[in-house]
Amino acid sequence: MQIMPNRMDREFYKHQEEYEKAALNVLRSGWYVLGENVAEFEKEFAEFVGSKYCVGVASGLDALWIAFRALGIKEGDEVLVQGNTYIASVMGITINGARPVFVEPDEYYNIDTCKIEDKITDKTKAILVVHLYGQASNMTSVMKIAKKYGLYVVEDCAQAHGASWNGQQVGTFGDIGCFSFYPSKNLGAYGDAGAITTNSDQIRDFVHMFRNYGSEKRYYNKLVGTNSRLDEIQAALLRVKLKYIQEVSQEKKKTAERYLEELDTREIVLPKIRKGSDSVWHQFVIRCSRRDSLIDYLNNKGVGTIIHYPIPPHLSEAYQYLELDKGSLPITEQYASEVLSIPMYTGMTEDEQRFVIENLNTFG
Ligand SMILES: *Cc1c(COP(=O)(O)O)cnc(C)c1O
Repeated sequence: MQIMPNRMDREFYKHQEEYEKAALNVLRSGWYVLGENVAEFEKEFAEFVGSKYCVGVASGLDALWIAFRALGIKEGDEVLVQGNTYIASVMGITINGARPVFVEPDEYYNIDTCKIEDKITDKTKAILVVHLYGQASNMTSVMKIAKKYGLYVVEDCAQAHGASWNGQQVGTFGDIGCFSFYPSKNLGAYGDAGAITTNSDQIRDFVHMFRNYGSEKRYYNKLVGTNSRLDEIQAALLRVKLKYIQEVSQEKKKTAERYLEELDTREIVLPKIRKGSDSVWHQFVIRCSRRDSLIDYLNNKGVGTIIHYPIPPHLSEAYQYLELDKGSLPITEQYASEVLSIPMYTGMTEDEQRFVIENLNTFG
């Protein structure tokens, strides 16, 4: 047996006819940019998340940088973000000229809220919370700190569509929620796509204009914007996928429960679930101090894995200018050297799950 770490085709073939019909309908409609599918998807997704508004954009990274732009974050400002995130979270901050200030993660791989206040200065303007691997962060603590210091909160929900904290979905706690619909995400399109969610009329209006050259009415440009529109075909496909998002989360949850129950080896650290947090298991991430040997061992058996992420943003070449040395974020760096994502996807068969479990349990 050969198992890939992720498979995006299984979900497509499960509802193939519906996806093909949706794409064909757009092709045949003669209307290809900002049509009814984008408008309807925005309504449907806002309703799903539980926010007042959703505005579609071209990608998750665009959602992030446009969110900070909407909040007026600029050069000279500082934004707090966890050290162990995907580099796009950080780029969302730095594209606007602001400086990322890294906070160490907790044992759930989310921002350690006990370490946030130490990093606040008079330049701090916002906290970017990343609900990494599908698990909601402790939003009660984050919101309390933000209120105390008058900071904005932006949520990076790229890996956590439908995840919740104390029954409330991510993307509704902060000022803005940022979503990616990159194909490998739980709510994945068939190309690039993204969105922001917000309860603010002002932010909604800004993003609505900004994504379309700063214009609400054609050829009347109120501000210098960009072209970051959610594609009409992707919106049509996302409307189909949104109908099955609960199915996807439930299926992944079942796989995760089985992994947690049946994985049994001292060589690895299993993921922990925070009380009050309902994870959607975008990734199932284990830790292993002998990670390289484990990867080779699993590879030889036919089990593919991925590292999310091997180089933390502060040590990447792109962020050398921040002058943060190795050792400056020890927990982030330890996680980067030990984390490993094992196969987890929609349509994973019980045999495939068993194969992964058996091979992991014989490592050592
Ligand atoms: C995927 C991802 C992004 C970026 O989304 P794109 O649509 O690929 O631009 C941002 N943040 C996190 C945490 C992600 O996983």
